[in-house]
Amino acid sequence: MQLYQSQPLKIYNSLSGKKEVFEPLNEGHVGMYVCGPTVYSHVHLGNCRTFMSFDMIFRYFKHLGYKVRYVRNITDAGHLEDDADEGEDKISKKARLEKIEPMEVVQRYTVDFHNILQKFNFLPPSIEPTATGHIIEQIEIIKDIQNKGFAYEANGSVYFDVKKFNEQNHYGKLSGRKLEDMISSTRELAAQEEKRSPQDFALWKKAEPQHIMRWPSPWGDGFPGWHLECTAMSTKYLGETFDIHGGGMDLKFPHHECEIAQAEASFGQAPVKYWLHANMLTLNGKKMSKSTGNNILPNEIFSGENDIFSKAFSPTVVRFFMMQAHYTSILDLSNDALLASEKGYNRLMDAIDALENLKVSESSDFDVATWRQSCYDAMNDDFNTPVLIAQLFEAVKHINLIKEGKEKVSEADLDMLRLTVKTFVFEVLGLEKKHEGQGDSQILSGVIELLIELRNQARTNKDFDTSDKIRDQLLELGIQLKDGKEGTSFTVS
Ligand code: AMP
Ligand code: ZN
Repeated sequence: MQLYQSQPLKIYNSLSGKKEVFEPLNEGHVGMYVCGPTVYSHVHLGNCRTFMSFDMIFRYFKHLGYKVRYVRNITDAGHLEDDADEGEDKISKKARLEKIEPMEVVQRYTVDFHNILQKFNFLPPSIEPTATGHIIEQIEIIKDIQNKGFAYEANGSVYFDVKKFNEQNHYGKLSGRKLEDMISSTRELAAQEEKRSPQDFALWKKAEPQHIMRWPSPWGDGFPGWHLECTAMSTKYLGETFDIHGGGMDLKFPHHECEIAQAEASFGQAPVKYWLHANMLTLNGKKMSKSTGNNILPNEIFSGENDIFSKAFSPTVVRFFMMQAHYTSILDLSNDALLASEKGYNRLMDAIDALENLKVSESSDFDVATWRQSCYDAMNDDFNTPVLIAQLFEAVKHINLIKEGKEKVSEADLDMLRLTVKTFVFEVLGLEKKHEGQGDSQILSGVIELLIELRNQARTNKDFDTSDKIRDQLLELGIQLKDGKEGTSFTVS
């Protein structure tokens, strides 16, 4: 028997606006698609929050015993600067500004994305497809939509006919917007001239001569619209209807609304059973965003090299901070919040250490089985990680009382307690056990400063064997000492 059979899970479906009992399309299997990053710059911490929310969700489904196929794409073409099909392709623009190939931009920031996610202890998705690797599939879907009468060609571009689609379907069902309101509020932009209605969106855009990312198509050289890649890749790997589609709240409209319209127009059925949207990370009360500059990069937090925080914070502490909020709530990043998370994280890790050496008794004062179920209840209530963490601190309280001899625990209960705490902390929340309250780099700096002092003493005592030994052995470890007027400094390679 798998855990999911005894642990019914409720998830908030943005499409219905309700919490629903999760029932997969295929018993024991979950198909999940999450919109990935547009790889034209470094991922900021806000992007990481959305991906982390889905990493936790992926982890919990796996923990419940489901076979999960998790598809998270890489957007390496087609994402324009403006949602209304205006402006330059974000990757092309970066390539033009830096005078490099678009694929160099893509490679650089895909590698960066993977490095950051690895630091945060993400599990890799089952499939990580790219938009440029699925141009043929996208062209086929456009042809199909056009054959079915929901798309039209204009001057080498192909647009989705929203009004036509809305005659028999419902455009706006996810975002709750009304087509008439959308039409009246749309701005007049150049690309709108080609459209029959301002709300129509591009499935294929004609490439102007200067556009470097281009592919041949039945409509001439061009590139696919951004919304289309997700329809092509999700349905290719998960089927025309699949269980879960996720992304940040800001993608609900127009991106996900357009995905629904494309899939319904082409396949004649709703593509997704449960739509999940993760909420935003804010900085100084404002949405963290690449374009506005109100953001912080993960590495700036890990190294402490920033003007916002008083010290460096390790990836696992930042992860713990994120997990302390429900994924559908807005979360504000601040120095105080990170300091508090670090304290909490250390307390949790101390209790996990203490679990190894607790004395067992004949009976227990702590009802471990009931507590364990309350951990599941938290997660089964739309992945409520803050309530789960509150339950973990309930266990910390008992662990400390048992350690102090003020409470008893039986051997069987202690085994269950150990297993449950570790499972939720490491497997489900994805935290790592690193006692680096002060941050790795700070500890390393302290040790090197101490060795520099010992080397200086040796030199004063004319003990050059020792002073040279310290310098040479540090160098072997990649730490180079540099003697200058101001004293000795060091660099770590
Ligand atoms: P992008 O690379 O811009 O396509 O964004 C990648 C993902 O990050 C999308 O799912 C966005 O919704 C999400 N995202 C962007 N900004 C934030 C933020 N401030 N907080 C949380 N998620 C965000
Ligand atoms: Zn997408």
